[in-house]
Amino acid sequence: MSAGIVQAAYLVAAVLFIMSLAGLSKQETARAGNYYGIAGMAIALIATIFGPEAQGTGWIILAMIIGGAIGIHYAKKVEMTEMPELVAILHSFVGMAAVLVGFNTFLDHGDLTGAMLNIHLVEIFLGVFIGAVTFTGSIVAFGKLRGLISSKPLMLPHRHKLNLAAVVVSILLLMMFVNAEGSMFALIIVTLIAFAFGYHLVASIGGADMPVVVSMLNSYSGWAAAAAGFMLANDLLIVTGALVGSSGAILSYIMCKAMNRSFISVIAGGFGTDGSVSTGDEEQGEHHEASAEEVAEMLSDARSVIITPGYGMAVAQAQYPVHEITEKLRKKGVNVRFGIHPVAGRLPGHMNVLLAEAKVPYDIVLEMDEINDDFEETDVVLVIGANDTVNPAALEDPNSPIAGMPVLEVWDAKHVIVFKRSMNTGYAGVQNPLFFKENTQMLFGDAKESCNKILEHI
Ligand code: NDP
Repeated sequence: MSAGIVQAAYLVAAVLFIMSLAGLSKQETARAGNYYGIAGMAIALIATIFGPEAQGTGWIILAMIIGGAIGIHYAKKVEMTEMPELVAILHSFVGMAAVLVGFNTFLDHGDLTGAMLNIHLVEIFLGVFIGAVTFTGSIVAFGKLRGLISSKPLMLPHRHKLNLAAVVVSILLLMMFVNAEGSMFALIIVTLIAFAFGYHLVASIGGADMPVVVSMLNSYSGWAAAAAGFMLANDLLIVTGALVGSSGAILSYIMCKAMNRSFISVIAGGFGTDGSVSTGDEEQGEHHEASAEEVAEMLSDARSVIITPGYGMAVAQAQYPVHEITEKLRKKGVNVRFGIHPVAGRLPGHMNVLLAEAKVPYDIVLEMDEINDDFEETDVVLVIGANDTVNPAALEDPNSPIAGMPVLEVWDAKHVIVFKRSMNTGYAGVQNPLFFKENTQMLFGDAKESCNKILEHI
């Protein structure tokens, strides 16, 4: 394949990636967006593998077959609830790839001299740094999401000063690296610093703030790929990396706004906590319970119902009976709507995906901001496997780890029914005063089974 055809293919692939991102921004066009992305990636791979610069095509194809087989195996096996963990570990691969490309390019940087050599060395240094931060940061995120590492923030003494020191030493090493026209010693030291920096950056972020971390690592992995693109002088990798990097950064910004966190302090790591954290463990009073029959009766008598799903709906796969309840009530003339918190579940858009899968109409699925004022006029709210996202402590307790995060103000409704299996806490590990309010009743049990029982009585 000639260089001209490869460039043309890259251009087509880049346009397809942009169309993919545009498609993915709306539920109705998300499927088409995925197809554009797949087509773009297929074109990019073919053009790269059969392009004039590729060597060892047989090895590349063998690696792709092995990698592809492992990928297909895990993609088929992975549960929807484990998706963020998969995404986090995939980000770590991008980070490691950037580190390896960096070292490889350094060992074989041709016969560049003068300004061109300096620019190339800066590319290598930054690529390795961003890649190493992404690698360990993503591994910690994976551990936290899988429960292998505590979701509590790591609170090292002088942690902000440590972060600052890591950045300052890295800048000094960069100057040394360029002045020495490349120094393996400086590159190895900065790699180790960046590994530690990435680890610390994510470890010092508390559980409830993990959604922002996941999208931030998504952005970092994009910049790591773009850096690899500069090192390899591959235009498409630069464009693709920049698309992922900037869309991840925009998503992080949106998530920060939704969670009332400062974007800058997220990038700096360890935001939103000053060390004094309350878990809400103090005596909260008594909770009240309801049976499935009672809830069914309440729903049949209601004029307006709002359903606020959370992570537990994903675990129970309760979206299908939830949809059936919705349809039955709508046929009876009840106004049923869904209220979706931006960080409900374990990945951005998690609840929207599940509800779309169960064919819940899009027009009754509303964002938190669109529905939060309507709880006051609502007869019944069904909190299905949600906890942190409906926790009033976020608004009432300044020492709570989720303090300041906007939540679905479900307690304003006439009746609130909470579907969960126990009085256990949610992801952030804080008790929820909602469960002890006068107008709240707990419906204990697996959310899917509870919904099925309700269906029998509506
Ligand atoms: P939470 O994680 O706060 O709570 C989920 C609740 O579901 C638990 O209290 C659990 O209670 C219940 N549950 C679990 N399994 C079942 C089941 N089979 N049937 C019924 N209930 C069940 O969920 P939210 O969605 O409200 O909040 C999401 C949290 O995750 C936030 O803290 C957010 O910051 C964090 N997060 C979000 C990410 C994102 O991108 N959306 C990414 C990473 C973290 P019990 O055990 O008693 O049943």
